[in-house]
Amino acid sequence: MNVSKRTLAIAGSGLSAIFTALTIKSQLDTNIVIFDKARGLGGRLATRRAENGKFDHGAQYFDISTLLDVPEIQILLDEKIISSNNNSDKFFSPGGMTNIAKFLLKGFDVKKEHKLLSISEIGGEYSLNFENAQSIICDDIILSCPMPQTIEILRNSKIEYDDSEMDSLTKLEYDPCIVIMVKSKNKISEYNKELGNMFTDQDISWVGDNTLKKVSVEENFYTVQCSPEFSFKHFDLEYDKTNDLLEKELTSIFGKGYEILSNHKWRYSIPKNYYSNSESLVIKNNNFIGLCGDIFTNGKFDGAVRSGISIADKYIKNEF
Ligand SMILES: Cc1cc2nc3c(=O)[nH]c(=O)nc-3n(C[C@H](O)[C@H](O)[C@H](O)COP(=O)(O)OP(=O)(O)OC[C@H]3O[C@@H](n4cnc5c(N)ncnc54)[C@H](O)[C@@H]3O)c2cc1C
Repeated sequence: MNVSKRTLAIAGSGLSAIFTALTIKSQLDTNIVIFDKARGLGGRLATRRAENGKFDHGAQYFDISTLLDVPEIQILLDEKIISSNNNSDKFFSPGGMTNIAKFLLKGFDVKKEHKLLSISEIGGEYSLNFENAQSIICDDIILSCPMPQTIEILRNSKIEYDDSEMDSLTKLEYDPCIVIMVKSKNKISEYNKELGNMFTDQDISWVGDNTLKKVSVEENFYTVQCSPEFSFKHFDLEYDKTNDLLEKELTSIFGKGYEILSNHKWRYSIPKNYYSNSESLVIKNNNFIGLCGDIFTNGKFDGAVRSGISIADKYIKNEF
């Protein structure tokens, strides 16, 4: 069968999905459709506007030392979509991390607010069934969602695939992370080391300055991450109650003059453990079903990119 005629659907618009799509597009004339359950692009690359400023509330900065041979990383550098301060090895996107996804996904067919519920196999093709009652017909599919979400989709699907790795995949877990977006009256320069400051043994585990990363033109916009323990214990609480619990720690950091402009909860933020056999996984060759995401590597930006490229390479080499 001519691979160039195939339609590949990619679940997710995060980094691993983006680099899957870019790598396949650079080598095959496949019809690629990307979809995401979210309203925005980029998955855990996430930026939110509040008042006149902006917050990165997902990934903060990243290491590109292992990615310098990836052409699109060079383009991001050349186009100044990513940069670092004072030759530091900590890269970020001035204007916000979602800019990376928006830039790289230009020209792709991306369907937002498409939550995949299940896949059915009909006459040698897949029908993807979405929560919004839409459907997509495709030949192949690559799932880049956090692993529990990928497993839920597979379990709800009427398809045959190699499930020999299911036991190990089911054991993969992520820490949750509650994020608070704070506008402070005071400039907290002591928390500007390395673009942010880590705390240990506290409910707050990290505070980062969005002005320092040029994400926010409005000054004193801080992103506050809660510790995995606090986030797990209070994940289902309403934001007002979480914010009350953190008042003492927030006051000790920002003084009395702070205002919480927004909150976000990541159920799956950073993996607690990893799939160690390979940087991605093929569970069906024909019609292809592949899995990728940061849990196949190191739970970080660079690892998500590598996992996306890994599943793309397997797709390109697959004998259909
Ligand atoms: C708070 C926080 C801080 C972080 N800090 C850093 C950092 O400083 N440095 C660093 O390197 N990394 C950091 N990370 C990790 C980094 O963000 C991730 O490693 C990387 O973005 C993961 O990319 P991914 O493509 O694997 O997954 P994701 O970005 O999670 O993409 C998966 C996509 O799948 C979509 N999806 C899920 N289910 C469905 C469905 N049923 N149907 C359709 N779409 C679906 C999701 O909406 C999402 O867009 C941080 C993450 C968080 C949350």
